[in-house]
Amino acid sequence: MAAGSIEHEGPDMGVGDFVLLSDINMDAFMKNLKLRFEKGRIYTYIGEVLVSVNPYRDLPIYGPEYIKSYKGREMFERPAHIFALAEAAYRTLKQRSLNSCIVISGESGSGKTEASKIILRYIAAVTNVSNQAEIQRISNILIQTNVILETFGNSRTNRNDNSSRFGKYMDLNFDYKFDPIGGKIQHYLLEKSRVIKQQLGERNFHSFYQLLFGENNLKEYGLNLKAEDYYYINQGNCCKIPKIDDRNDYQQVKQAFKVVGFTQDEISTIWKIVAAIVHLGNLQFTDVDGEHCSITRSNDNNDQLKWISKLLSCEESDISSTLTSRVVAARNEVIQARQNMTRANYGRDALSKALYERLFEWLIKHINKTLAKENNEQLTHGYRTVQSSLVIGVLDIYGFEIFENNSFEQLCINYCNEKLQQLFIELVLKQEQEEYERENITWQHIDYFNNKIICDLIEQSRTGIIAHLDEACIAVGNITDEMFLDSINKALKSHKHFSSWKLSPGDKIWKSINNNKHFLIRHYAGDVVYSVDGFLDKNRDTLFDDFKRLLFNSKNPILSSMWPEGEKSITSVTRRPLTAGTIFRNSMISLSNLLSSKQPFYVRCIKPNDEKSPNIFDQTRVEHQIAYLGLLENVRVRRAGFCHRTPYDRFVQRYKIIDSVRSKLYPRGVPTKENAAYICRELNLENDVAYGNTKLFIKQPVSLFELEKKRTA
Ligand code: ATP
Ligand code: MG
Repeated sequence: MAAGSIEHEGPDMGVGDFVLLSDINMDAFMKNLKLRFEKGRIYTYIGEVLVSVNPYRDLPIYGPEYIKSYKGREMFERPAHIFALAEAAYRTLKQRSLNSCIVISGESGSGKTEASKIILRYIAAVTNVSNQAEIQRISNILIQTNVILETFGNSRTNRNDNSSRFGKYMDLNFDYKFDPIGGKIQHYLLEKSRVIKQQLGERNFHSFYQLLFGENNLKEYGLNLKAEDYYYINQGNCCKIPKIDDRNDYQQVKQAFKVVGFTQDEISTIWKIVAAIVHLGNLQFTDVDGEHCSITRSNDNNDQLKWISKLLSCEESDISSTLTSRVVAARNEVIQARQNMTRANYGRDALSKALYERLFEWLIKHINKTLAKENNEQLTHGYRTVQSSLVIGVLDIYGFEIFENNSFEQLCINYCNEKLQQLFIELVLKQEQEEYERENITWQHIDYFNNKIICDLIEQSRTGIIAHLDEACIAVGNITDEMFLDSINKALKSHKHFSSWKLSPGDKIWKSINNNKHFLIRHYAGDVVYSVDGFLDKNRDTLFDDFKRLLFNSKNPILSSMWPEGEKSITSVTRRPLTAGTIFRNSMISLSNLLSSKQPFYVRCIKPNDEKSPNIFDQTRVEHQIAYLGLLENVRVRRAGFCHRTPYDRFVQRYKIIDSVRSKLYPRGVPTKENAAYICRELNLENDVAYGNTKLFIKQPVSLFELEKKRTA
């Protein structure tokens, strides 16, 4: 497919495709991006890759007239726009019968989720030409699904008021008429530690605040205190945020639940679980004798245990004993071991995280069932088959993260970004190469940094960081996080992208850091120091079987169904579950395979500043992003051969009106290779073009400008 915007938007708008810049260097790139940002042109191409800068203001560029003007057009025919990319992905499906995917990447707050929603709305609008009720309904479900996912999976962070704290991949299914017939969502690693802990200025997931500020009947949930008085939701000291209307959002999500097909009982269970978690956060223990503890009770209406029991439909005594003791089976004998305060607090937090995570997974399962049901229903009518359906996948996944304190979660997130970068390198270059081969054109190779070495450092079996972590987790004895650090220090000491204080104590980075608990990875996007504190625990991710049994035995059948494994008897031997790190690694590997089986389209999102301002273009911040997204290399690779390519018919259609060739094309204006060659000869472009099997390739941007100038003369 050809791309490269040749649309002139006026010289004061900069160039709409970076490959058209006369010099490829950081200065020229930045100048063009800044100019366009200031003019409200937030989109610019690099060939088929779309660079998008978050405008931090509503632009009037997504309305029906815009949709109309991009519908059915090639990317290069109109100014750069995310609609053009969505259209290209859709046309891949329609015209070439190939599955496509749109990979959206960029750091937190750069606009990935907004981009994914705009894409979805565009596809819903262009596919629903005849306004058929069924298509409308499915599109609506897909859009409403986002409302639910954002309520339960997004949160206010210091970087973004609506930050996605999970990765999302959504497949949109189309039938033989290329109408949407359903979809499927896959999620990756919800940041569940947020349920129990938030940094200053950050919130828990939106759902908690929506319930507390939106529900009129909080008494039903026993939530009698002010939001600020609940520990799980007050730690960031910012329960209320001016830009977020939790009350209104609560109504929206309630509506969304209905559209997506949740029953009243299910909706009520969802909020009961959220409320029970809020109560769990305030539940405290009283020390008995240093070894044992009991739940601190209150006689008034704020008794946490009473409300947790009511909301989860579990007996008070069962909850109490599960939180303060642990059942262990030894040689067919069942022993109840009582817990001290530290362990009880740990157990309570683990339960809260697990309840929320399971709820989130259950929501996605439910949504998927609804989306898949549409397919099945169509099947029974016998004229649409699931097998024949084509898909467009949309990936909106967390961006690269460097915090002051980076833990296991950041390692997973940054590893995910390494994988996506690796895929970008492979696919963009592969595609480029394949096109030249297909068209029988010779081209020149360009060097770029290949981050495969960093992916291997993390994921390789036996030798990678995750493998070492797993080994530490299954080793017998009292293995500590520091012992894990020792083992990677030893194993990875000569790795170029790994370091620690022990390995290079003189490095200035260790001056300000408690050095014996950290290691450093030189990621493609920058160096990140990780603290090993809690690594083993987070990787094991154990929830004691007692909790599973407790929840399985809930009298609420919906909650109980979320915990099927709780049915097992105490003495049954369970296989060791996979660790969190390994589950994540496996899901990244399969995601990467899934994406590479489709025709990829890329949106590279850039955050212009940290102030969420529409007027600031922070040079240093933006430069850094351009560098680590590899955008300059991207332009160079794209330019290494040819800056522009276009099918012969399009070329002739566009340039046959040039005065000096108009009357001479034979047969008159027919879009053939011969006529394209005639135009090139006549305009002295022969030395700057190559003739592929189906496309004309142009080397220099200047030739393209020349053509455009002549065309409009
Ligand atoms: P995270 O990784 O934290 O989830 P993200 O990349 O998904 O971040 P978004 O939530 O999409 O970031 O965008 C952050 C905010 O930026 C939005 O809430 C919105 O205010 C603004 N924004 C992003 N894209 C656009 C756009 N195209 N038009 C207007 N505002 C936008
Ligand atoms: Mg997001």
